[in-house]
Amino acid sequence: MDTQILSGKVVSASVYENLKSRIQNLVSNSIVPGLAVVLVGDDAASQVYVRNKTKKFTSLGLFSETISLKNETSQKDLLEIVRRLNIDNKYHGILVQLPLPNHINNDTIVNAINPKKDVDGFHPINLGQLALGKPLFIPCTPKGIMRILEFYKIDLSNKHVVVVGRSNIVGRPISILTSLKREYSNATTTICHSGTKNISNYTKQADVVILALGYPEFLKGSDIKEGAVVIDVGINRVKSINGTSSKLLGDCEASSIKGVASYLTPVPGGIGPMTIAMLIENTIEAAEKELK
Ligand code: NDP
Repeated sequence: MDTQILSGKVVSASVYENLKSRIQNLVSNSIVPGLAVVLVGDDAASQVYVRNKTKKFTSLGLFSETISLKNETSQKDLLEIVRRLNIDNKYHGILVQLPLPNHINNDTIVNAINPKKDVDGFHPINLGQLALGKPLFIPCTPKGIMRILEFYKIDLSNKHVVVVGRSNIVGRPISILTSLKREYSNATTTICHSGTKNISNYTKQADVVILALGYPEFLKGSDIKEGAVVIDVGINRVKSINGTSSKLLGDCEASSIKGVASYLTPVPGGIGPMTIAMLIENTIEAAEKELK
């Protein structure tokens, strides 16, 4: 079977194209969509993610500011910064890059963000609204997965979706989204995790497998049925045996999946670019609330 690649680069480019007129409309109403990114500590991967996000904002003529804080920043000081950003009209969106240093409680900080500026969609109010089927902001990675499926006209209705991973950032929200009674969703969704025995028993039955576990090349071609769709969210940097170089691997073994799956998202160039595109779309949605 020919496996078609679901390109996040192609779909995100079409998202940006569609956003142009919305950005122009905002700017002509003297509103420049703005995002505040709070980065605590010097985690190299987080720095790269933040740089990529802010670069894209700037290239679209949007406003973004990174507030870089020392690793030793106290929870109290960070809360104070979030509270200031909550009331600063320059920022329509606030993103606190996770993970935070160990002495800071992720939940306490996320809960302090104004849900109307929570463009990551991680606030309990936003996750609760999503579970109710009335989302305000949908978390960016799950939203990006749905958008890529819609673009390639892969309708989940009546399909069996198996999600591997149950994090609040990807696995849990995508399991909710895929099973909502709405267009392109309406699937029967199974969620697997580290407490699931013989995960391949489930993936072999799936029409669509969504991998978000962070385990390089976990899913092999022999773990899926012919014609299944594989959405690979995993981004795993794996060092070469001699440790001199590294490469990015997804959560599936692309070489054995190709030829068995009908569609596959590549790593890199699949869900990664969609996550950034959805962050920008969510920020524009937040800014558009000012028009109403
Ligand atoms: P988390 O570590 O928060 O969650 C991983 C989930 O997978 C957990 O539910 C865990 O189970 C489960 N899991 C881990 N190992 C296994 C295993 N061997 N068998 C079954 N289940 C397992 O990760 P995230 O959800 O934040 O991220 C997942 C991956 O996606 C990572 O590689 C990350 O880098 C990538 N990612 C990519 C993004 C993108 O834009 N493309 C955005 C966000 C993440 P349990 O709950 O029991 O611990």
